[in-house]
Parts: sequence; structure tokens; C-alpha cells
Amino acid sequence: MHLDISTLLLVTCVLTFLVGALFLLSWAQARTTRSLAIWGIAHILGSIASGGLALRGIIPDWASIAAANGVLIGAYGLIWSGVRAFEGRSLRLPVALSGGGLFAAACAVPAFYASVEARVILASAIAAAFCAACAVEIWRGRRERLVSRYPAVILLAAYGACYAARIPAAIVAPLPRGANPLQSPWLAVLCFAGMLFTIAIAFVFMALTKERAERAQRLAASLDPLTGIANRRAFVADAEAVLAQPRRSALLLFDLDHFKSINDTYGHAVGDGVLIGFCAIGRLLLPEGAVFGRVGGEEFASLIPDRTAEAARADAARIGRAFAALRLPTLPHLRPSVSVGIADAAPGERDFDALMRRADLALYRAKQNGRNRVELAGPEGRGDHAMLGRARLDGRAREGRRSLNR
Ligand code: GH3
Ligand code: MG
Ligand code: MG
Repeated sequence: MHLDISTLLLVTCVLTFLVGALFLLSWAQARTTRSLAIWGIAHILGSIASGGLALRGIIPDWASIAAANGVLIGAYGLIWSGVRAFEGRSLRLPVALSGGGLFAAACAVPAFYASVEARVILASAIAAAFCAACAVEIWRGRRERLVSRYPAVILLAAYGACYAARIPAAIVAPLPRGANPLQSPWLAVLCFAGMLFTIAIAFVFMALTKERAERAQRLAASLDPLTGIANRRAFVADAEAVLAQPRRSALLLFDLDHFKSINDTYGHAVGDGVLIGFCAIGRLLLPEGAVFGRVGGEEFASLIPDRTAEAARADAARIGRAFAALRLPTLPHLRPSVSVGIADAAPGERDFDALMRRADLALYRAKQNGRNRVELAGPEGRGDHAMLGRARLDGRAREGRRSLNR
């Protein structure tokens, strides 16, 4: 089968232009995603370069050789810059454009310009290096779990390997003297691979961008906007996932004391600050693996895996002490405190609502016994239910009732 390189290059030119336009269109709809704009420009430049390469013999040789290849290498550099932007790193534009500049400058040296092999080796080495650098950048960002990350790494590494393989090929099997480089079978393979790469990388980059946006949306829907910790829905889902595992765990229910009077005395903004402060302390002092969330206005909960209620008492007390030590220089009389109720779940105990009820009753006891303290739940039994009954009668179990009715 004969692959006509000029035709392949022309098809690549049109295809790459369309992909570039698609990237720019996507960027116009999400202007904060700079990588889309950079990839768009890179593809448009790649399209211009392919056009220049295809017109070999029609336009002056310097334009088709030095300029078109320089622009093509610059496009690879820009793809690398786009990947860096995607990963939240600096663009390093001078580095990105230096490859193309180096190739064009080398073409000013007559001995280099006259040697097809030298040109092939330099261009392939720079393009391979940029492809490999793209793969490394995407690999480095793997802590952010995006499904398309691994196909992107494989694709870029494979394409880089295609370019790299061209280097020994140019040395071992150089073109016969005076032969037209556009007749090289290697160039045909590379053109074909380039076309497929353009389509595949566009899909993968678009998929990466879309996955990240979806992830951010999912995250925003599960976070409490004020404090940045999990909201009630996300907390319940995470806690139920922990309870589904065959391990014991302890549920801590926190309720800030006399919070309404903090709001009334110092204003809602100070109240908000106290809520944020409590969450910062909780995040810092809760053990790794603990689930933490805001389950009501000034109510928070944490499920700590592999903890008994007794052991969790120490965690709760540490958080209580740190919170009580919270001081604002401008409000020296502000003395926040928190009451905590703890219930533990034996391995295999999956009823989250029942666990929450028991922690809630223990919390009510902490309030009854003077606040700023930790109470442990007994087994769900008569004593606590009788207490809840009394609480309902004296009208001071608003929070408890609210939790029970959720
Ligand atoms: P107790 O010690 O019995 O828990 O008393 P409390 O004052 O903390 O409890 P109460 O339920 O009477 O008041 C809770 C207050 O929390 C009422 C509500 O205005 C306030 N609150 C709820 N959400 C927010 C919020 O996001 N920001 C602020 N600043 N206040 C909030
Ligand atoms: Mg309260
Ligand atoms: Mg409350």
C-alpha cells in the first residue's frame, strides 16, 4: 500500500486545524481553563506547519524546511506548556518555544541545513523530549485521580517513542543521496501516527478537562460552603461506607455551647468565624481516616474507625480543650466551648441512624450536666429514652429532636 505523504500532510493540516478550533471553542466556554487555549493555539500552529511541510517544492525550501519544522516543534512545546497549565504549574513559555527556535537557528548553518539526517535527528530528538516531558507532567499529577490520566501518559510516551525511533533509523538507514525526503517510508509512518495522535490526544485532553470539572462539581456538592468540611449528606454517605466495613468505630457528635448567645453578643460574622475555627481544630486534631462533617447549624460529627468510645473520649477532650483555648485579641471575653456525645459501633453494626440516636442522647446528657464536657452513650436502653422524654417535656432538646427527626 502506498501512502502519499503530501496527501497525508494535507489531511493532517485540516484535521489539526479543526481540533485546534475545537479546543479554542471549548476554552471560550470555560475561560479559566488556560490549558484549552494553549492546546488550541498549539494545534493551529501544528496545522500551519503541516501545510508548510505538504507544500514542499511549491513554496521556497527554507519555508517548508526551516520554518515549518520550527513551527511544528514549537507546537509540541506549546502542548507541553498546556499540560503544565493543566497541572497548575508555570507555563515556561521560553523553554516551550526554544525547541522550535533552536531548530530554525540550526538551519542557518549550511552544513546542518544540507544534511537531511542531521535535521531529522535534531527535530525528532526535540519532539520526543517534549512528548516524554508531557507524559511525565501528567504522571506527576496522578494524585488527582482522573481516569484519562493513564491513557494520556501511554499515548504521549508511545508517540515520543515513535519520534525517538526515528533517530537510530536516520543513522542506520539514511535516505539515498538526492532522494526527496517526502518519499521516506518513515515519514509516511510518522505522518500517519501524527494524524492518529492528533485525534487521540484531543479526545484524551478533552476527557481530562471534563473529568476535572465534574470532579470539582461533585466536590462542591458535598462540601459545606462556610467551613469547607463535608456537608451532612456527604458525611452520612462516608460514615455509612465506614460502617459497612467489618471494623469497630466511634461516632462523636459535637454541639457548640450557647452559640446563639455568641451570635447575639458579637454578631453573626463572629459566629461564622467561630464555626470555621472549630472546623480547623477538628481537622487538625482528628486522627487520620476520621470522617468529619457539619451535620447542622452548630453541630458537627466525626466517625473514627478502629476506635472504642472510651478511646475516642481522649480525641474529643483534646478538641474541646483546643476549642476552649480559642481567643480573639479583639474579643477577649469570647469563651467558646463544645459539648460532645460519643457512641461506639461494634464491627458489623451498620445502623447509622441508631448510632446517631445514641450519640445524640449522650450529647444531651453532656448539655444537661453543665456543657463543655464529653459523655459516652450507654446501650440504647430505657435510661436514655427516659432522659429524652424529660428533655422533650422541658423543651430543651430542640437539637436532639431535630437530629432524631432527620
Ligand atoms: P446549646 O448550648 O444548648 O447548644 O445552645 P445554643 O445557643 O448553641 O443552641 P441553639 O440551638 O439555641 O442555637 C444555635 C444557633 O446557631 C442558632 C443559629 O442562629 C446559629 N447558627 C446556625 N447556623 C449558623 C451559621 O451558619 N452561622 C452562624 N453565625 N450562626 C448559626
Ligand atoms: Mg449549641
Ligand atoms: Mg445545636
